[in-house]
Amino acid sequence: MPSDEQQQQQPIFEGGHFSLLENHSNLSEARSKVFYFHNPQVSNYHYGIGHPMKPHRLALTHSLVLGYDLHHRMTIFNPHIATREELAHFHSEDYIEFLKRTMPGDSSNPDLARFNIGDDCPIFEGMHQFSSIYTGGSLEGALKIKNGECDIAINWSGGLHHAKKNEPSGFCYTNDIVLAILELLKTFPRVLYIDIDVHHGDGVQEAFYLSDRVLTMSFHKYGNGFFPGTGDLSEIGVKRGKFFSINVPLRNGVDDAGYLYVFKSTVQAAIESFRPSAIVLQCGADSLGCDRLGTFNLSIRGHGECVAFVKSFCIPLLVLGGGGYTIRNVSRCWAYETAILVDAQVSNDLPPENEYREFFAPDYKLHPNTLNKIDNMNSRTYLDAVRISVLERLRYLPGAPSVQMQQVPGDAFDLQLHSSDSEE
Ligand code: MN
Repeated sequence: MPSDEQQQQQPIFEGGHFSLLENHSNLSEARSKVFYFHNPQVSNYHYGIGHPMKPHRLALTHSLVLGYDLHHRMTIFNPHIATREELAHFHSEDYIEFLKRTMPGDSSNPDLARFNIGDDCPIFEGMHQFSSIYTGGSLEGALKIKNGECDIAINWSGGLHHAKKNEPSGFCYTNDIVLAILELLKTFPRVLYIDIDVHHGDGVQEAFYLSDRVLTMSFHKYGNGFFPGTGDLSEIGVKRGKFFSINVPLRNGVDDAGYLYVFKSTVQAAIESFRPSAIVLQCGADSLGCDRLGTFNLSIRGHGECVAFVKSFCIPLLVLGGGGYTIRNVSRCWAYETAILVDAQVSNDLPPENEYREFFAPDYKLHPNTLNKIDNMNSRTYLDAVRISVLERLRYLPGAPSVQMQQVPGDAFDLQLHSSDSEE
């Protein structure tokens, strides 16, 4: 793949509201080396008629990425499919077996109740294969970051943050994020997890709730029974993990200004206190305005500014997808964020040659004007209270823990076995 690393970096935004970024600008002179993981099969699965989770959004995203010519600025891989052994680093053997064996129409299976399969997480054809595909992308991204082969790895099909060790939850069957972080921890002493999905990143928080090597940080809607119901400010971790879980509960309708006000100050403080050696960023796009399930008002530019801000710290970064249920906007958002990650400027007019162009009618713009619709219930007073509380906790973070590495565990899978899968 031709590299145009010599090409001069161009500013992503014309606007001048990136004051915090200036602190790091000296570090970001050179373009980041970006790896992008995409298995075209992943968009062919269906959760069922009427289900809001539509893997087809990944085909839309990829078509925009290609349409904007972003593939010339990164290396594209068709990642391996996660193996049973890899899934078993977090999930229980009998749950993996259940995912593999259960078929649609299997309603008499007594394990259905035991494993919490139901309306949100239906049995659909190929659910085990689908889960293994998106998990393979995240694992391979983590592996390449861990081995220093790239600065940024992107897997838009990953980020399924609700899945638990022993059960699916919130449209997530396997937790690719937990597995990717476990891979990163083989080499990196500390991993920061940041989650900008509208829902609380409960599965990841729970997995590392007792750990001081993973700082989880979730920004989400909280209250009135909004799924999954966890993510209160008071959830801070336990035992060694005390203070290493951060929750930023927000109310309906938060806009770019309010969100970024809280996000930038708390993320910056977390990075300064915790000094992560790698960051995993879950970019759930259900925090955009007009999402079918979400209740926030972020614009695509605002959502993308979170990504740009995290990137600006020049720490090895794994970028994942997540929720997002108005799929035309999900794909716009993730294509735009891909552009940010490869330092490309993209026009507001969507690429004219696109097999899915009808999805983007009537305006055919990257940044539609009509994303806001919900009343903003986040007063400045409320946002300040949350922000100050989080900053106060971060001051008590008991120092960045160091880890004495004795024997570094081997890679989760043998690269040689899978090297034929990558198409550079
Ligand atoms: Mn979500």
